[in-house]
Amino acid sequence: MKVLVINSGSSSIKYQLIDMSDESVMVTGLVERIGEDMGSLTSKTFPGTDREVKTEIEKPIPTHGVGLEMSIDLICKGENAVCAMDEIDVVGHRVVAGGEKFNVPVVITEDMWPDLTETERLAPLHNPANLGGAKDATKLFPGVPQVLVFDTAFHQTIPPHAFMYALPYEYYEEDHIRRYGAHGTSHKYVANECARLMGKPVEEMNLITIHMGNGASMSAVKNGLCADTSMGLTPLEGLVMGTRSGDVDPAVHNYLAVNRGLDIAAIDNILHKESGLKGLCGMNDMRDIHAAVEKGDERAKLALNVQTYRTRKYIGSYMAVLGRVDAIVFTAGIGENDDIVRAETIEGLEPFGMKIDPEANGIRSKEARRISTADSDVAIWVIPTNEELAIAREAVALIK
Ligand code: ADP
Repeated sequence: MKVLVINSGSSSIKYQLIDMSDESVMVTGLVERIGEDMGSLTSKTFPGTDREVKTEIEKPIPTHGVGLEMSIDLICKGENAVCAMDEIDVVGHRVVAGGEKFNVPVVITEDMWPDLTETERLAPLHNPANLGGAKDATKLFPGVPQVLVFDTAFHQTIPPHAFMYALPYEYYEEDHIRRYGAHGTSHKYVANECARLMGKPVEEMNLITIHMGNGASMSAVKNGLCADTSMGLTPLEGLVMGTRSGDVDPAVHNYLAVNRGLDIAAIDNILHKESGLKGLCGMNDMRDIHAAVEKGDERAKLALNVQTYRTRKYIGSYMAVLGRVDAIVFTAGIGENDDIVRAETIEGLEPFGMKIDPEANGIRSKEARRISTADSDVAIWVIPTNEELAIAREAVALIK
């Protein structure tokens, strides 16, 4: 079976064609700067193998539909084609927000569109593009099942006392304001991988999963199901991120409005794009921050400290949520690559049975690995996430 996985963003499309017989990646591609004067398409067939072929096209790409069609042409036609169009059995789409209605993956049917369109207000930056990609693919692949995999689905087992905000109840009933979380596909994937690696059923495991990339979130996973997560109504809440503030006192809005004369849109923009690591030290890439710390940059050090302290605080709160913690999993760009952030996050948690082995932590690898000491009560793992494969597996499971 071959699955095309599409992640359609506001001005980009990421895609992978996966051969599910051995879960190998046949093609990866990225369409960028859709709608701008000049767009680009970069694609690799059989990436990472000795058969790898890279193709780069620069030309205006007016719409997502055009970008997707160009991508399909590369996959299925021309000298580097890897399969015919009718060999693609299912298309899986990443969708950021599913709301309360879409708590499991679905095969799109025509009658779903009113409910799907409703979800757009929960993630106005992401869902319209995600769903637009699904519409484009439906036209390009008539008769091929289009599966939507929602980032929020894994979090739908969070109980009401954890997903409710203490706001007037009608805002939940009428405006659907509650915690939905994000990165769920990744949290679920690494939780399952951790259970597999530890040789235990995930239903018997309590885990804290930390997805730390440019966006960052954490989940408390109890008996294999999500019990709490750090992102909220939107992906702004929780941990300190590249440019997003994470948790702040909600009164900050009024304070900034009064003191600086900013309107809501400006404040929202600051919290999303000018805060987090960037707000604290002017840099949002952790590699630049480490380089600056080495040179004695105090603000960079502060940004690192604020970030790791916040994450540690969440670990403490999730220990309280879970009671017993079997493992902590680090994943995504920072989680997978940054031994300093991992070490500083866990520092001080030794009395709670969480001990990092500095040597294992320092090893750079693309493989999953345990980085805790042999006598650490809680296993600590680095597990590379693979959202595309997770989407492909969900899509295949659904159509089977
Ligand atoms: P996104 O949320 O955009 O999917 P990623 O998971 O790709 O983000 O993570 C990107 C971030 O990971 C970068 O901004 C950078 O801070 C961090 N990162 C990537 N590689 C390294 C590395 N080798 N060391 C430290 N941080 C890294």
